[in-house]
This record gives sequence, C-alpha cells and structure tokens, in this order.
Amino acid sequence: MDLGIAGRVALVTAASKGLGRASALALAAEGARVSICARGEHALRATEAELQALGADVHAVVADVTAPDMAARLVAETVERFGGLDILVANAGGPPPARALEVTDEQIAAAVNANLTTSVRLVREAVPWMRRAGWGRICLITSFSIKQPIPGLSLSNLSRTGLWAWAKTAAPELFPDGITLNLACPGHHATDRMKQLGGDAAHMGDPADFGKIVAFICSQPANFLSSTAINVDGAAVLGLL
Ligand code: NAP
Repeated sequence: MDLGIAGRVALVTAASKGLGRASALALAAEGARVSICARGEHALRATEAELQALGADVHAVVADVTAPDMAARLVAETVERFGGLDILVANAGGPPPARALEVTDEQIAAAVNANLTTSVRLVREAVPWMRRAGWGRICLITSFSIKQPIPGLSLSNLSRTGLWAWAKTAAPELFPDGITLNLACPGHHATDRMKQLGGDAAHMGDPADFGKIVAFICSQPANFLSSTAINVDGAAVLGLL
C-alpha cells in the first residue's frame, strides 16, 4: 500500500530508541523527511545514521523534549530545515512506577509535564504549519493504560488519561482543517527498556511493527481516522470500549 507521505515532513520526539525510533524509521521508509530528538547524543547519532541509510533527509537534535521551551524550538528548527511540518509523532519517556497513595505533588507535576503538557505544547506549535498546508497528521504515543489503568503505574495512568481527554476535545477542532489527531497506545513491546526491566521478549510486540502502525495512522489513506485511541497491545485490554 502506498501511504502517500513521500516528501512529507515529520517530527518524531524521543526517537533515538524504542517506539519513537521505530516510528521515525517507518516514516522514513515511506519517503518522509524526518526530525528526531533525544537527550543522549550517542544513540541519537546512531539512529540518524540508520535513517540516512534509508535515503531520508534527517534533522537530529540533542534535546529534552519535556523542557518548557523545547516544543517551540523543535518545531522552529524543523520548519527552518525543511520548510514546513506535516506530521507530528509526540513521544516522551514514561514516568516511574508509583503506587496511587504514595505519589508526591512533585511526581504528579513531573508526570503531567512529560506525558500530557509536552504533547499539548508540541501540537500547539505544530498546528499552525499544518493549517497553512491544509493537511496534517498528529499521533500521540501513550499507553494501553488509558483503556485499562495499570496497577502500580499511577503516574502514567493519571497523566495519559488526561492527555486522552484533551485529545478528544482537540481532534474535532482540527478535523475541518484537514488535520487528524489520534493516539497510538502500546501494550508491552520489546524495546531496550522493557528488556532491561526483565520482560519476556518472546511474548511482546515488535517495535518495528508498532512503528508501521504509527506510519499508517500518519498516512494519506488515514484521512478519515481521527479522535481515536488505537490499542497495539496483543489483546491485553479486556474492556469493551
Ligand atoms: P525507550 O525504549 O526507553 O526509548 C525512549 C526514547 O525516548 C529514547 O530514545 C530516549 O532517549 C527518549 N527520551 C526519553 N525521555 C526523553 C526526553 N525527556 N526528551 C527527549 N527524549 C527522551 O522507551 P519505549 O519503550 O520506546 O517507550 C516510549 C513511550 O511509550 C514511553 O512513554 C513509555 O512509557 C510508553 N510505553 C511503552 C511501552 C513498551 O512496552 N515499550 C508500553 C506502554 C507505554 P534519551 O534517554 O537519550 O533521551
């Protein structure tokens, strides 16, 4: 299937490893030009080289995406380099495990900043360029916890469900301008982080497959797909909604 995004400009944050990296690779394989960021330079340069090996035009920035001014900087640099911005895949590292009654105000603020406000900032900065183009695709990487909260991950549960509620409000405001907004909700995937946590990789999703689903969500044929939260979880969520 032709995803129809060759030449489109994509910004994928937190993308030197794991699900962000896989998303950037899948978009580049479809011919998109790609901006990526991460805090650690070594892995970022390795992923930049992988993207270039696919023939992609790449802009790679060492950056903490959760810093308050970073969304504006990343979007500005992407537009300066490529002349516009068509696709946003907003991703950031997840918060640490925490039992519900043990979380501190500071932990809540940090989780909300990283896993809610950062995505809102990125969308806010990206949308004017998408409106100018009359076309846009936004995919927020969250977690299957928005459908089925995960015991012991109260910070992830509270921040990501808040983002989902915000996205449901934002998507109808964007759709008339040709911009779709969806969430991709991973279950357990065999990223470095999950393998380090001791998960059984044989029973996890392949990040490369997840990246291809993100690329489809950001594709031309996904024109009428908006305001959805798509689980990619190997049937982990048992709820009906
Ligand atoms: P990962 O393998 O640890 O990769 C995280 C990537 O994000 C790395 O490139 C990391 O690079 C970058 N990053 C982290 N914090 C950043 C920041 N503040 N600024 C810029 N870059 C940052 O993680 P993952 O498994 O792909 O998970 C991605 C997201 O999906 C997380 O929010 C995670 O909680 C969520 N999720 C994952 C799974 C799963 O099974 N993998 C399941 C549900 C939800 P640096 O560290 O160098 O910055």
